[in-house]
Amino acid sequence: MDCLFCKIVAGEIPSGKVYEDDYMYAFRDISPEAKVHVLVVPKQHIGSMDEITAENSAVVARIFEKIPEIARMAGCESGYRVISNCGPDAGQSVMHLHFHILGGEELPLHIRGN
Ligand code: 5GP
Ligand code: ZN
Repeated sequence: MDCLFCKIVAGEIPSGKVYEDDYMYAFRDISPEAKVHVLVVPKQHIGSMDEITAENSAVVARIFEKIPEIARMAGCESGYRVISNCGPDAGQSVMHLHFHILGGEELPLHIRGN
């Protein structure tokens, strides 16, 4: 499948790894919108929030269980924001579900991750 984040998960495209386990991969955004800007993706291909189902939602739960630790490891010391853009109106540009973790500084009110 021609999916950028599947290629990053497979190691075919280099990325700045922050955390990895059997279910998820977390890496630095190539074009950071804040001092800390990490993307967390499920290793299995899920296109967007719209494709979360009862069959695949366990990996989403695992990601959310891990986000506080990933945020700390990435350098968020006094809070962070989690964003997932879904579809054209939100400006989703990579069609593989991902959660932006933004922090490392006081964030402006309007920041959408991309
Ligand atoms: P979206 O626009 O779908 O919410 O977020 C996609 C994010 O992926 C953007 O913030 C963009 O900077 C990031 N991105 C796009 N291509 C690459 C890449 O090749 N490597 C990394 N690390 N991030 C990428
Ligand atoms: Zn993918």
